[in-house]
Amino acid sequence: MTPVVVVGAGPVGLSAALALRSHGLSVTLLEADPQDRERPGSRALFVHRETLGLLDAMLPGLAAEITAYGRTWHTGRTLYRGREVYARTFPPPSGPPPFTSLRQTDTERFLRAACGRAGVDFEWGARVTGVRSTGSGVRLTCADGRQWSASHVVAADGARSAVRRGLGIELEGTRGEGFHVVVDVADVPGGELPLERVFHYEHPGAGGRSVMRVPFTGGFQIDLQCRDDDRPEEFGTEEAVRRWLPAIVGEDYGDRILWVSTYRFLRKVAASFTDPHRRVLLAGEAAHLFPPFGARGMNSGIADAAAAAGAIAAGTAEAVADFAEVRRAAGLFNMAAAGTALDHLRPRRRIVRVRQRAAAALAPVLPWCGSWLEHAPYGPRHGAPAVAGRRY
Ligand SMILES: Cc1cc2nc3c(=O)[nH]c(=O)nc-3n(C[C@H](O)[C@H](O)[C@H](O)COP(=O)(O)OP(=O)(O)OC[C@H]3O[C@@H](n4cnc5c(N)ncnc54)[C@H](O)[C@@H]3O)c2cc1C
Repeated sequence: MTPVVVVGAGPVGLSAALALRSHGLSVTLLEADPQDRERPGSRALFVHRETLGLLDAMLPGLAAEITAYGRTWHTGRTLYRGREVYARTFPPPSGPPPFTSLRQTDTERFLRAACGRAGVDFEWGARVTGVRSTGSGVRLTCADGRQWSASHVVAADGARSAVRRGLGIELEGTRGEGFHVVVDVADVPGGELPLERVFHYEHPGAGGRSVMRVPFTGGFQIDLQCRDDDRPEEFGTEEAVRRWLPAIVGEDYGDRILWVSTYRFLRKVAASFTDPHRRVLLAGEAAHLFPPFGARGMNSGIADAAAAAGAIAAGTAEAVADFAEVRRAAGLFNMAAAGTALDHLRPRRRIVRVRQRAAAALAPVLPWCGSWLEHAPYGPRHGAPAVAGRRY
């Protein structure tokens, strides 16, 4: 029997495999896609300091590798209808950076290489279709008939998790109205925009829609908040983006588009993060889906992965039950926090927009108004009570 099987080679599955190896356990990682797959788009960019700490505990030196490649900036800027309402530049920290920003494919590249060095066994083209958990272990069946037995399984097989569904565990929550458009744009060599994150409320060049710009190594991500009655084909195709993008970042960038995606707002958390036998542990998007504001998806998934590995290494059903309780509480907290950010970004009530307008008008004389406008799009900054000391 293989001690542990991880299902899914996304950032969370790779982190789980690495964490399990750091506890000295043998790990097989089953991934449905072939080894030479290409994952498109930037997707989750931010790897926060807390996550870098977890990754470094899994493999010392990994955080330094990732931060050396990623981008860190020290200026946050907020505008409201073309006028700056907040700008702050922090001195570079003496220790680890507060975050680093790189495309998710690049983060996965570092994690895959680290897993290789740590001795994780990969099985590519292994799509799990069946799961049976008992008091003594778990049996997994793949689409091609292959089977694996394991003492424990970490299910990191993403939003449509076959393992979660095979165990009959529901995702509970809501799907919001509307969508936003995410666009990756390559830097113009020699003419890069300033290295800073910019949030622009009611951008005049985007018909009054809010826009965020976030750098990553090699380019930047533009996030356009669409209105509920906008249609994806008007804003979310490459042709449509060519029409609206120059008014946001300048004419030079119209032909630098790398990837366009529309993204809907799901707020869901699994009813349980483990099965009744405490043998399968859900992690990442297999267990929870949040709107992306505050970068909670991948960061909290990596926290799940570290906690799952610790529970399996402890070797008791109680440790797995604790993992499930604590990480589900964190998931509920993150879902609420991302929801708070979403309510600010896509106000349902007129009063929220009125408050934002008033804060923008008062920001030059009351700096805390500008600070509120700067921070509110990312949700509360403090962690869940159940995971004291942690942000996710
Ligand atoms: C289009 C898009 C845009 C996004 N944009 C952002 C963004 O702007 N900001 C942000 O923070 N987040 C964004 N995200 C979310 C972010 O990508 C996720 O939070 C992150 O990928 C979750 O990691 P994960 O490892 O849990 O799941 P995934 O990355 O989904 O990995 C799951 C893995 O499991 C594999 N798998 C699935 N089913 C099986 C099976 N049955 N058997 C074996 N393997 C299986 C998959 O092939 C995949 O490799 C975006 C996601 C998408 C899809």
